[in-house]
Amino acid sequence: TPTSILITGGAGYIGSHTCRILSKKGLNLVVLDNLEYGHRDALEVSENLHFYQGSVGNESLLKKIFINHKIEAVVHFAAYTYVGESVAQPEKYYENNILQPMTLLRVMKSFGCVNIIFSSTCATYGNPHYLPLDENHPQHPVSPYGKSKYFLEQIIRDYSKAYGFRYVFLRYFNASGAAMDGSIGEDHDPETHLIPLLLKTAKGESGPLKIFGNDYETPDGTCLRDYIHVEDLAEAHFLALSYLQQRKASNAFNLGTGKGYSVMEVIHEVENVTNRKVPFEIVPRREGDATSLVAQASLAKSQLGWEAKHKSLYSIVESAWKWENGPSNGKYNN
Ligand code: UDP
Repeated sequence: TPTSILITGGAGYIGSHTCRILSKKGLNLVVLDNLEYGHRDALEVSENLHFYQGSVGNESLLKKIFINHKIEAVVHFAAYTYVGESVAQPEKYYENNILQPMTLLRVMKSFGCVNIIFSSTCATYGNPHYLPLDENHPQHPVSPYGKSKYFLEQIIRDYSKAYGFRYVFLRYFNASGAAMDGSIGEDHDPETHLIPLLLKTAKGESGPLKIFGNDYETPDGTCLRDYIHVEDLAEAHFLALSYLQQRKASNAFNLGTGKGYSVMEVIHEVENVTNRKVPFEIVPRREGDATSLVAQASLAKSQLGWEAKHKSLYSIVESAWKWENGPSNGKYNN
């Protein structure tokens, strides 16, 4: 039987864009998603894609998947991702982002599948001691969300030493944008991310954008983030699969462009792309926001051969606008 890649959380934002790219490369995919936040419509219907609805903590379902398909590697996206909610409900985050994936790791181990690509985040670094952030920057995550990602990294490292697991941790900076043709994109409920909120404000669907503080030590006083196009992230997963198969090594890689944009600059780019005024108001800082988060992404370039193709904020916002203002209005039916 041909081999397949298991994608957990494949119906989510970054997962669905990754499935699309991996499918185009001709890989066989098995997607496991409980559809709590994911969207079935974000995935194409194809002979090369098998969909299972369920959680990564469902041992019997996982066993069925590993029996039905020859899984050579797992790309693990499934997780809760709301920072604020994780502070209020840490148990929910540790249960979902650590306990359940441990079942996935157990089943992988029992079937001799040792290759894993894990969606990690720049939030595992905590407040930067220096910028840009490289992969050796100390990891002192602040929120339970960031800690859950950090702890699972540590668990997988130990499984690597003891059980021969091979891993790639992809530490995303600010995932943003949509498929360049506008066919799929970001649909979170609730939406908390800057770019989709700005686009909804531009459409008149959402009130003035609340800027969380303009008294930071940055040129215009608003926070700097490294916005990385979701199709660039997707491409990195393909390269990470090759890395695991060919190099038989393990590593952690930052995925960013290396350039930071302020909230104010993003607002101006949204006005530029949409040709509409975007009203905003200044509100107090949001707890836990770092002043600047910018990646040093040279390791991914030298080791994976990966580099962001969409270096400008323009093509990120343009693609997001195509999705948000397109036929589906930035929303999936299910
Ligand atoms: N932000 C903002 N108002 C909003 C949402 C976000 O000012 O309604 C700012 C936020 O403080 C941060 C940047 O926009 O500096 C990106 O925030 P987002 O939540 O998109 O991603 P994060 O960096 O928190 O992962």
